[in-house]
Amino acid sequence: MSRYFCHEYPEVLELETRVVDARPGAVLLERSPFHPGGGGQLADRGVLRWSDGEVRVAAIETVDGRHWHLLADPVEMAGVVEARVDPDFRSMMAQLHTDTHILNALVFQQFQGALVTGAQLNEDGTARMDFDLPDADNDRLRALEPPINEVIRQDLPVRYAYVTEAGALLERGLVRNRSVAPPPAPDGTIRVVEIVGLDRQACGGTHLASTARSRPLRILKIDNKGRHNRRVKIGLIGPGGA
Ligand SMILES: [Zn+2]
Repeated sequence: MSRYFCHEYPEVLELETRVVDARPGAVLLERSPFHPGGGGQLADRGVLRWSDGEVRVAAIETVDGRHWHLLADPVEMAGVVEARVDPDFRSMMAQLHTDTHILNALVFQQFQGALVTGAQLNEDGTARMDFDLPDADNDRLRALEPPINEVIRQDLPVRYAYVTEAGALLERGLVRNRSVAPPPAPDGTIRVVEIVGLDRQACGGTHLASTARSRPLRILKIDNKGRHNRRVKIGLIGPGGA
């Protein structure tokens, strides 16, 4: 995980930048406000505007640490461009991502340090998380819905820090995802996301500045996936959600 522009400047969704490499239908930018996706999070959506018009960014393909913006039309682009992230999509991803941290924190606290085995955020305002929870009572998982919404209501601030890989491994629960522990940045540090007063964990995604910026959510479904895994599906209440 390299450090992304959106990690340093999460509020900046529009940026004037420059094409540094291009082929028909794909472009590499000097700087980009787009999150490229990964770790269960979908890549940002949005458009690029340049002297000849505007084109939608259909996907982002990461090759050798470089983020190719794949365009909806096979245009060839050069020079100065304006990159604009879709604010509604970014907001929805950040809400879901922050809420999965809250869910994860409460499961970790109430189920003796249970680890995450997978996570996926969806474009329809839902997300799922898989936990290593042998013999867990699904009703106890369902009962986490009111405490999750209480954390959202409390408007806890979200902060970031960078720690060394060795330091990250020493702090219990910091690297919590058994399947996709985030790789360190080129300088050997790991990005830590803290929901102040609740939780700290390593993560490279986009999050809200504080928890009350999320809509409330529902726990939609709990499935048993094998003897060990529980899959918890959550959804935001309101437009584009549950
Ligand atoms: Zn995260």
